[in-house]
Amino acid sequence: MAFELLLGYAAAHEAGHCLLGPGHSNSGLMRATWNRKDAEAMTRMSLNLTKPEVRTALARLAAAQPAAAR
Ligand SMILES: [Zn+2]
Repeated sequence: MAFELLLGYAAAHEAGHCLLGPGHSNSGLMRATWNRKDAEAMTRMSLNLTKPEVRTALARLAAAQPAAAR
């Protein structure tokens, strides 16, 4: 796996913590540890966030926008 891809995925994981809090998921970007299956998802640029993770992230991003931008 390309280092740059792994580094980007790690940065996205940490950004996920900024939006979702300190917890981890059983699958996808927010897993605590990644395995070969996750590496395959990374090469497809797939984040595999759960629906609750996506809803929470979108809600927090919307709440963080200034009122004029909504
Ligand atoms: Zn983490």
